Amino acid sequence: MKLEQLIRNYLNTGTNRNNDPEKNQQILVANLFGFIGYTLTLIMGLAAVIRQDNLLATVLLIASTLFFTSRLILVNKRLKNAYRVSGSLVTISLMLLMVYLIYAGGVHGTGPLWIYIVPPVALFFGGLRKGTRSIGLFILAISFMLFYPNNALLAASYSFEFKSRLLYSFLTVSLLFAFYEYSRQKSYKQSLQISRKFENQARVDLLSGLLNRRGMSEVLEAEFSRAIRHKKELSLIMCDIDHFKIINDQSGHQIGDQVIEQIAQTFKTALRQHDNVARWGGEEYLFLLPETNEQQAFIIAEKLRTTIAEKHFYDNGRPFNVTVSMGVYQVNQSDSINHAITLADKGLYLAKNSGRNRSVIHVEQSV
Ligand code: GH3
Ligand code: MG
Ligand code: MG
Repeated sequence: MKLEQLIRNYLNTGTNRNNDPEKNQQILVANLFGFIGYTLTLIMGLAAVIRQDNLLATVLLIASTLFFTSRLILVNKRLKNAYRVSGSLVTISLMLLMVYLIYAGGVHGTGPLWIYIVPPVALFFGGLRKGTRSIGLFILAISFMLFYPNNALLAASYSFEFKSRLLYSFLTVSLLFAFYEYSRQKSYKQSLQISRKFENQARVDLLSGLLNRRGMSEVLEAEFSRAIRHKKELSLIMCDIDHFKIINDQSGHQIGDQVIEQIAQTFKTALRQHDNVARWGGEEYLFLLPETNEQQAFIIAEKLRTTIAEKHFYDNGRPFNVTVSMGVYQVNQSDSINHAITLADKGLYLAKNSGRNRSVIHVEQSV
């Protein structure tokens, strides 16, 4: 249990709750690659020391140090692009180590067998484009080394068949990995799009196409804190359709729905760009008007109210009129969102009580 926790902590260093899951996953795998990188090169380096293969030992121990440095970079909280820098260091060190292994041959000429680690690591850290580019450069470099006339750039000796098959198989593995990375990125993007679509749907009311209560709550939070931070004016309008029950009773629920939807459309087209309107309840709408004081909000409320009052709605060709009542409230610096909404609602109540089809500003009485 303790070991499991230790491994988990080790692999999760550098991850952050606020990161998107893809990035945290990358950091986790970077930790794993780094760990395998420096322990494997350290063990092989020590084995080379024992065999007194001094050059190989030096190269492996340098590689081990570089892999370990990449981990130190990854856990450095002050570094902004820690993950990228660390990933590039792992990829470059790995490629240089592979170039050396091909040059020197490693243990009994088996060194080149390790080059297949390059494509997954390069693609993982660099992504499809950068990864493919660095694999391409690596292929150019090793082809140049392997096929340079008279084996002048090689300390080890390989047969022509071995060199050509090594290159073909490396190309095949690289292509397969690149294709795999391409499909992985594609499906990741698709699932991101789907989840964004669902998130948006959860904020929008199906019938009216306006923000629903949840979507509006997010906008309210953002606009309230902005208004408080910058000491800007902010007003709310609570709107309710008058005698809607009668419309439903006389014309049916379906026509009632059409009224809700058509009023929503009218509001949407009449509003300024930065204003917001939501379907707050059954036949209630809530407006949020940034940088607007109560007088300006009242003028907007009246304009919207008269537009609705003058509009014709139809029940099987028979025209009828609908009116709305509006409660206007200018938000105070000390108001909570709920309190401000309650006060806009009080304005609406006053408008209803004083005869409907009107707008009323609610002014909070000073104590
Ligand atoms: P008031 O002027 O006081 O607001 O009267 P009202 O009849 O509009 O108010 P009340 O709150 O009594 O009734 C609202 C009605 O709205 C009751 C409910 O059945 C109806 N309603 C709520 N949501 C919907 C909806 O989505 N579609 C339809 N067709 N009717 C709805
Ligand atoms: Mg009503
Ligand atoms: Mg109502």
